Amino acid sequence: MIEENVKKLLKEIPEKNPFGEKVTLIAAVKLQTADGINSAICGGVTDIGDNQVQEFRDKFDLINGTPRRHFIGHLQTNKIKYLLGKVDLYHSVDRYNLAEELSLKSAKAEVTSNILIQINIGNEETKGGFPLEEADEAYRKISALPALNVEGLMAMLPFDRDEARLRSLAKAMRRKFDELNAQGANLKYLSMGMSGDWKLCIEEGSNMIRLGTAIFGERNYKRAVSE
Ligand SMILES: *Cc1c(COP(=O)(O)O)cnc(C)c1O
Repeated sequence: MIEENVKKLLKEIPEKNPFGEKVTLIAAVKLQTADGINSAICGGVTDIGDNQVQEFRDKFDLINGTPRRHFIGHLQTNKIKYLLGKVDLYHSVDRYNLAEELSLKSAKAEVTSNILIQINIGNEETKGGFPLEEADEAYRKISALPALNVEGLMAMLPFDRDEARLRSLAKAMRRKFDELNAQGANLKYLSMGMSGDWKLCIEEGSNMIRLGTAIFGERNYKRAVSE
């Protein structure tokens, strides 16, 4: 089932976005078993994204092959140490003190951490990230920190049935991404798009989508309690 879902998605997802950039599918693996994740890898998933440090650690040695590892969830600074050197891309750098701590700890461990700056595109209280208006300043400050490599922007669109609104938010993200690059930033990734909105996000210029439900089905939140 999971393997088939991935195969079907990989056929459906365009290889490139309208900007000519390769689109990367990341399996959002929160609350999934190692077996489930390995089925997704069998189906062709090359990149996996975790939300929780504990889950990441518990399953680390049970994952087959060498998928690229993404951290996509809210990250507490006291847990950075468990991820250092093991995560290929941190998507959720959503505040200065996280960027500073990640920089400090990366420098100490003599690794460079690749990061995305998270933008709270819907200005939602329940979500982290910098307001879009502060993206330039956030980029300037964070890219000046040692041992960090700012590779792009990440956003989660609000849950909203108003497609026109979602499109305009996705467009605003792409505009900011292009603007920063025009000013000399060398951003590669715009990580935007989940199971409910990935098509629209790619159409508007995302080049990384993070899919959970579309690959694994509805999440079983009971599993969170027993772990
Ligand atoms: C859970 C999660 C996803 C995937 O959500 P689905 O709607 O299940 O595809 C993507 N990004 C982040 C940051 C998530 O936490």
